[in-house]
Amino acid sequence: MHKHHRALGLATAPFGTAATGAAEIAKLKPVQPVTLLRPHAAHRAARFFVERFPGRSLYAVKANPSPDLLRVLWDAGVTHYDVASIGEVRLVSETLPAATLCFMHPVKAEEAIAEAYFEHGVRTFSLDTLEELGKIVEATARDGVPASDLNLLVRLRVSSEHAKLSLAAKFGAEPQEVRPLLFAARQAADALGICFHVGSQAMTPAAYAQAMGRVRDAIVEAAVTVDIVDVGGGFPSTYPGMEPPPLEAYFSVIHDAFEKLPISYSAELWCEPGRALCAEYASVLVRVEKRRSDELYINDGAYGALFDAAHIGWRFPVELVRAESSDIRAMPFSFYGPTCDDLDHMTGPFELPGDVAAGDYIEVGMLGAYGCAMRTGFNGFGSEWRVIVEDEPMASLYGEVTREAARSNVVKL
Ligand SMILES: *Cc1c(COP(=O)(O)O)cnc(C)c1O
Repeated sequence: MHKHHRALGLATAPFGTAATGAAEIAKLKPVQPVTLLRPHAAHRAARFFVERFPGRSLYAVKANPSPDLLRVLWDAGVTHYDVASIGEVRLVSETLPAATLCFMHPVKAEEAIAEAYFEHGVRTFSLDTLEELGKIVEATARDGVPASDLNLLVRLRVSSEHAKLSLAAKFGAEPQEVRPLLFAARQAADALGICFHVGSQAMTPAAYAQAMGRVRDAIVEAAVTVDIVDVGGGFPSTYPGMEPPPLEAYFSVIHDAFEKLPISYSAELWCEPGRALCAEYASVLVRVEKRRSDELYINDGAYGALFDAAHIGWRFPVELVRAESSDIRAMPFSFYGPTCDDLDHMTGPFELPGDVAAGDYIEVGMLGAYGCAMRTGFNGFGSEWRVIVEDEPMASLYGEVTREAARSNVVKL
């Protein structure tokens, strides 16, 4: 019975089983996709932000809300969490009771604001309209007396042109709306902030320089005292075809722009990395069920951890996991996922040795952010087997290249 369960990849291998790497897991011939977790990589990324970012780093929980990951980040020194829904508020306050939560979705239900404020101690909220400001003030008042301990961050609309994934259309106040909004928020706030999001996977630090220009204009025009400047997320990771400059270059640009803002010495600089803290945290070991020319039918896909690969053509690093490595030349493959749905298709291209065949295992890397977190159980396919591995992630911005750059002081903070 035990053996049977293990073959199915069901829950008999408890979370926490440690292995040195994917090869060891592939030997067990799991039938379901297996999530490989690298807490050491998430820890390293968090330490990097805690030590090097010239301000406070909030973790954007939506990138991966796994409680195990939250604890890894907490242990690495991340004390503040960017939450976007009441579900995330409850999850983080349950998992990390001492954490500081910041409710950074600019459109919230009044009930969610009230529960966050009164039951979970949330004091920091973002907004991009006068209506939302009204909601926050109302939902946090006690017996008609407005709260006096709110940190309110006004979200500006900024360009997403340098990012691989836009966040520009949905949120953010337009230039002509910013002045009255900052003015009104100043009256209601204990601390007033300005925030923005340049879009996810911003490929150049110039994105932040540009957005900081908008912040500067807004502060000058509204002539209000600003206590917090929050540069949001967007810090990139490394994927095939996407090799961003080292993160130090981003930190340096942000630091310089912050220093030049017309704000007081005590003003705080915040950022909200999601992807950069957790992309390297997880990968998935999949099995090839069938090969049709240059198409591989694998047991995970668009409804599993490969949503972005299917829907926005994201390319993830892949590696054939075999007892003996193949010396056949690599060629480009596309993937089909396990469901009965044509949408369950990942174009890639994914470079793998030309002799890949049914029964082979492939590790798909860098799925810790917006990958494993988006898994569904659609069509009866899923993954319940999670294993901690100790080897290095397939692509890392925190590897030798970054360390070299830091050592040679190419980018000075
Ligand atoms: C998604 C999101 C983030 C994290 O973005 P990354 O690109 O993953 O760093 C940060 N802040 C807000 C408000 C977000 O919506």
